[in-house]
Amino acid sequence: MKRIAVLGSTGSIGQQTLEVIASQPQRLKLIGLSAHSRIDLLEQQAARYHPEVVAVVDGEHAARLASRVEALPVLEGVEGLVRVATDPRVDVVVVGTSGRDALVPLMKAIESGKQIALASKELLVMAGALITRLARAHQTTLVPIDSEHAALFQALRGIPKPEIASISITGSGGPLWSFEASQLRDVSVSTVLNHPKWQMGPKITVDSATLMNKGLEVIEARWLFDMPLDRIHVLIHPQAQVHGLVELIDGTVLAQMSPCDMRLPIQYALSFPERWPTRVPSVSLVQQSPLTFFEPDLARFPCLRVALDAARRGDSACAVLSAANDVAVRAYLKEELPFGDIARITEETLSQHQAASMQTVEEILAVDAWARATAQTLVSAECGMRHAECEMGTPHPAPRTPYRSL
Ligand code: MG
Repeated sequence: MKRIAVLGSTGSIGQQTLEVIASQPQRLKLIGLSAHSRIDLLEQQAARYHPEVVAVVDGEHAARLASRVEALPVLEGVEGLVRVATDPRVDVVVVGTSGRDALVPLMKAIESGKQIALASKELLVMAGALITRLARAHQTTLVPIDSEHAALFQALRGIPKPEIASISITGSGGPLWSFEASQLRDVSVSTVLNHPKWQMGPKITVDSATLMNKGLEVIEARWLFDMPLDRIHVLIHPQAQVHGLVELIDGTVLAQMSPCDMRLPIQYALSFPERWPTRVPSVSLVQQSPLTFFEPDLARFPCLRVALDAARRGDSACAVLSAANDVAVRAYLKEELPFGDIARITEETLSQHQAASMQTVEEILAVDAWARATAQTLVSAECGMRHAECEMGTPHPAPRTPYRSL
């Protein structure tokens, strides 16, 4: 019996993790849950899945939940997350939240010898050197939940490193893959959130549409598989049946295929090093045929180019990339920013960044905070400009010079 804590249980990965745990009652037992502030859903999860302890990052929400569930210990703040992640009853910690608040709990879980099932690519983009160094020191395997990395993790099992020539992550291309460049400036939120293949949270769905998600995933793969950037490739594969490919030095390619269902990589991350049966229907190659693959278009999707540039600049640029993109995406979701400006805000924030060495959590969080503040200033300036243009009678959205790489 493996005993599980889920950080970020109210997010998309967290909710599906609870389904997987409930589907394997002989093998998995839930110990702890955590959420940032969605206490209504957390309360429902507690009633349905019976954790021994929960934690809520936001203090006010923690107190409110504690008054409703008297029999259940409710911990508070990042310290509460740390206590759930390091609880001696827990064997595996699922990190399903992309929030900065999970960085210290993740590191403490590694230090206390937990197996880690890692869904948060943002934490690796922000602090990959620190996290992977710590995992090596404590001989902890970081088992990825992100589907492409779960694919590569499985395809790479048993392969000696000198035999690996390159690795490729695939992406469906998202909902805008067939759009012309001229259509991509002002795409509506509802169009972007209508992903053709995957059901995910709103932030990652926007990242899929901009292809920033693939850029973050290249950086994630670099850390997870200790692979230089020039040996990590991105392929657009609209059928989304092949999730990752490993090319070996003799030209052999090992590819992992599975249905687009996150419960599969979640279950594998929990069952590892074993493999268990599921009720998820298997891939029908005939139904999915033909399978096609394309090079990504960096001109129509500049976020991927911005991400790859940041990856080459170094660790602190990656932290800035992730934070600035997060601010821009959230502004887009609130309809404060046009779709085409997500790349611009992120790139402008990066252009103001002086590369800095990041050895500690404090330094990483300082870079993250600087990037968020800088990106927010740029977003506010953009909002103010658009607002002024609207008041002057300019049609909304105001025409602007196209993004320079389009
Ligand atoms: Mg992915």
